[in-house]
Amino acid sequence: MDTESNTFWCRLLRAKYENGISMRKSSNWWKDLHLLCFGSREGKWYEEGAHRKVGDGGDINFWYEKWIGDASLCCLFRPLYQVSAQQNHKVKDMGVWSAAGWSWNFCWVSPLNMEQERLLVDLQQLICNFVPKLGCPDSWKWVPDQFGIYSVKSAYMLLSGSVPVQGDNMFRLLWSLKAPSNAIALAWKVLINRIQTKVNLNRRGIVLNSACPLCLTSDESTDHLFFSCPIVWKVWSKISAWFGVFSVLPADSSGHFLQHLGILGSLKIRKGGWVVWLAVIVCIWQGRNSVVFRNMQFDANAVFDLVQFKAWSWLKAKVRSFHYSLFEWISNPQECLQGV
Ligand SMILES: [Zn+2]
Repeated sequence: MDTESNTFWCRLLRAKYENGISMRKSSNWWKDLHLLCFGSREGKWYEEGAHRKVGDGGDINFWYEKWIGDASLCCLFRPLYQVSAQQNHKVKDMGVWSAAGWSWNFCWVSPLNMEQERLLVDLQQLICNFVPKLGCPDSWKWVPDQFGIYSVKSAYMLLSGSVPVQGDNMFRLLWSLKAPSNAIALAWKVLINRIQTKVNLNRRGIVLNSACPLCLTSDESTDHLFFSCPIVWKVWSKISAWFGVFSVLPADSSGHFLQHLGILGSLKIRKGGWVVWLAVIVCIWQGRNSVVFRNMQFDANAVFDLVQFKAWSWLKAKVRSFHYSLFEWISNPQECLQGV
């Protein structure tokens, strides 16, 4: 239906199911199919795999639909979306054509703060090369397939985890965590690989020796610095031991984030675990900057102590029912998170 929208069979299905029949009156077959594809948390796989392909932008919502990158812009740039005066605008209504070409035109319900201004720069960089194609209708593409065409095989690969699709769920979760906004913004940059590691600075033409300042044996990419560097790995293994879980975590940022303390199961504990994840990211970045700019040593034990304190102070400030002492938190973090 996504790729052959004008065919007879497609128009027939649309006429029958899209507007005329409410879910309550639908057949069991249709209800099951809808639940499987869109209804439950696990059932959002179809949304994760189906992205929009912009033509003239007249049919695609700028904020809600996935048309650039792996996530919808409302999830990726949550703090900007929340103050947008154009939340329901289509892509083509978010800018204007003039003699000089296409230019974006954003309107906000209130003045942007510093963090939002920084996010706006990132948003503008993301969409700066995009220009709507006049006279060309919008369409769909199926991301797990290299040609953008849906097939049962590619859907199976997506469902079985062979095709990694990050996206809305991850960013929705990130922005909802109980932590300071600057910590979330830093983690956000890590997840979209926009942090100023040496490899990323080299890519922008700022040539540096790209060796990781902590281990000096690999290039300082985002994934290396935060997840696979043997020096920071000590911090992550201390976190696992503190929570009493032992698992091998992926070395890419979104996989690492999504699977962090995954073995704990309970969402309540995992949300607290993600606050700890944010604290680790912040402390690694601060520790790394102390090495680069102040010639200090990166001490995994000291970083671990700081992570414990930071996560505790954030939870204490942001979660009303978190009334545990630092000693209780350090002694049994799982029990503290279970109790909130
Ligand atoms: Zn390293």
